[in-house]
Amino acid sequence: MKALFLGLMLAALPAFGEHQETSLAPIALYIRFQQEPPLAVAEALQDEVNSIMAPMGLRFTWRALAGVSGSEVSVELAVITFKGTCDVAGLSPHSSNPGPLGWTHLSHGVILPFAEVDCQGIRGFIQKKLLTMPAADREEAYGRALGRVLAHELYHIFANTTRHNSCGVGKSKYTVQELLSPEFQFEERESLALKTSNTHAALEWAAR
Ligand SMILES: [Zn+2]
Repeated sequence: MKALFLGLMLAALPAFGEHQETSLAPIALYIRFQQEPPLAVAEALQDEVNSIMAPMGLRFTWRALAGVSGSEVSVELAVITFKGTCDVAGLSPHSSNPGPLGWTHLSHGVILPFAEVDCQGIRGFIQKKLLTMPAADREEAYGRALGRVLAHELYHIFANTTRHNSCGVGKSKYTVQELLSPEFQFEERESLALKTSNTHAALEWAAR
């Protein structure tokens, strides 16, 4: 099995009549933390993914992988593992070069709905800058950074592409500034790839 790394790094036929903007069925995200994050980190992470994906109409239900009973039904899903320490306790004023921040698995060139986010690596990468922020803001800023890396991997999975762009969430390498800036979004090309994807069409069909 190979992996697609983020470094620091059935078409539905239209119905007759007027086009109506329908909301899409939600995508189920099954998540597993190696170490449970503080609530503020988890909330900021989810808020960021929801907000980055909202312009494409994508919505998510977040489920703990551990709580899966086997009776859940979803049109589209992905399984996400968050690796390592996932909080902002004991930061040090040294930034490290973590290698890949997140990755999506491939099998024989096919993108699989399995991604991993390196909480510990992202933390090490941005910790020096996090320490310059008020302590009360750090968990939210860190959670937002995790959300950006996850949004990047979800783009690979749901647009079904290995492509990258030179700017925006679709970049292959992020800077500390991009992970911590107030705003970070997809560029037009990635937005369009998500909006015209088979996933989008399936979610639209399922919502009818
Ligand atoms: Zn990538």
